[in-house]
Amino acid sequence: MKRKIVVTLVLVIEMVVLFSVMPYGAAEESTLAPVQLRILETTDLHGRMMNFDYEENRYTDEFGLVRTASLINNARAEVPNTLLFDVGDLLQGNELAEFAAKKGKVEEGNLHPVFKAMNLLHYDAATFGNHDFHYGFDFLHHSISGANFPYVNANIFINDYNNTDFDDVNFYEPYVILRKKVVDAFGIKHPVNIGVIGFVTPKVMQWEKKSLEGMVKVKDIVSTAEYFIPRMKEEGADIIIALAHSGLDATKNEQDEVYPLSKIEGIDVILFGHRHVVFPDQSRFKNIEGVDNKAGTINGVAGVEAGSWGNYLGIVDLIIEQQEGRWRVTQSKSKAVPIVKTIKKKKKATVSSDKSIVDAVREDHEKTIEYYQKKTARKKRK
Ligand SMILES: [Zn+2]
Repeated sequence: MKRKIVVTLVLVIEMVVLFSVMPYGAAEESTLAPVQLRILETTDLHGRMMNFDYEENRYTDEFGLVRTASLINNARAEVPNTLLFDVGDLLQGNELAEFAAKKGKVEEGNLHPVFKAMNLLHYDAATFGNHDFHYGFDFLHHSISGANFPYVNANIFINDYNNTDFDDVNFYEPYVILRKKVVDAFGIKHPVNIGVIGFVTPKVMQWEKKSLEGMVKVKDIVSTAEYFIPRMKEEGADIIIALAHSGLDATKNEQDEVYPLSKIEGIDVILFGHRHVVFPDQSRFKNIEGVDNKAGTINGVAGVEAGSWGNYLGIVDLIIEQQEGRWRVTQSKSKAVPIVKTIKKKKKATVSSDKSIVDAVREDHEKTIEYYQKKTARKKRK
C-alpha cells in the first residue's frame, strides 16, 4: 500500500514538473507531452556471440553478445520506447564466423548462427561493415536472408560500367522508415516515423576487392547522405538515425567520415563503428572542436560507438517533442556501457550471460570448438 502511495506521488510530481516545463496552454493538449526514446547500438561483433576465446579454448568476461544481450535487456527495462541497431562487421573475424562460412551450409538454407542469436534480440535494423563482404556476396546474402530485421546501405551502387553518377542504382535498400508507436510521459501512444540509413567506409572497395570488384561501386558517405536525407524527410521521417560503419576523426579521411556526416542537416543520431573504440570518451576524443564527450554529441548530433566484440552497449537517450506538428529531438545524452569493469585493479563482469542466446548458439559453438581443435591439430602435424 505504502509503495502504491509513493508511486502515485512520484507520478504526480513528474506530471507537475512536466507541465511546468511545457509551453503555456500545453496542459490540456496531452499530445505535446515529451517522449523518452532510447536507441541501442551494437557494432563490430565479428562473430563473437559467445563469451568464448576459441584460440585459448576458454570462457572470458571480456566479450560476447551473450553478455551485451543482458545489458540490452536491462536498458529496455528502464525505458518503454527503445530501438536496437547493429552497425556491421558481424560475419567475419573469429572461429565461429569462419566455421559458419566454411561448414555452416548457410547457402543451403541453414540459418547463420549469428542470426540465431540476434533474431532473439529483435533488432530494428542493421547495416554492413567492410568485413561482412569477406566471404563474398552469395554467402552474405544467404546469411542476411535469415535476419528478422532489415539491412540498409545507401552508398553501395550497382556497377553499371558507365562514368555517369546520376543514373546509379543502389545495390541495397538505402534506408527504411520504421513506423513506430511511442508512449509519452502520460502513457499516451503516438506514431513516430524513424528513418534509418546505412553507410560503409568506401575503403571496403580496396579491402574486399576480391568480393566486390566489377559488381559494385562505393561512393563517399557525406555526398550520399546529402542526397538521401532530404528524401527521407520528404517521405515523412520525423527522426533520422544514421548507421555509419566509419570512424570519428577531425581530419578528413575516407575511413572516418562521422565528423563531416554530423554536419549534414537532418541527421539526429549517428551510431557508428569500425574503429573498435568507444565514444563518448574524454581521453580519446579530447580537443576536437564540436565534440562534447559529456553529452556524447558531435556538432550537436547525438552519437555513440560501442567498442567491439560486444564489450560495450551503445545507448543514446533522446527526449523528443512535437513542435509545429513535427517531432524534434530536444535533448540527448549518449553513453557506452561496458560488460566488464575494473574495480580495485580486478576485472569484474557487470552482467551474466543471457541464457536464451547461449542456448540458441550452443550447437554451433560446440561444433566450432571441434572444428578449431581439428584444424589446429592438423596444422601441428604438418
Ligand atoms: Zn570491425
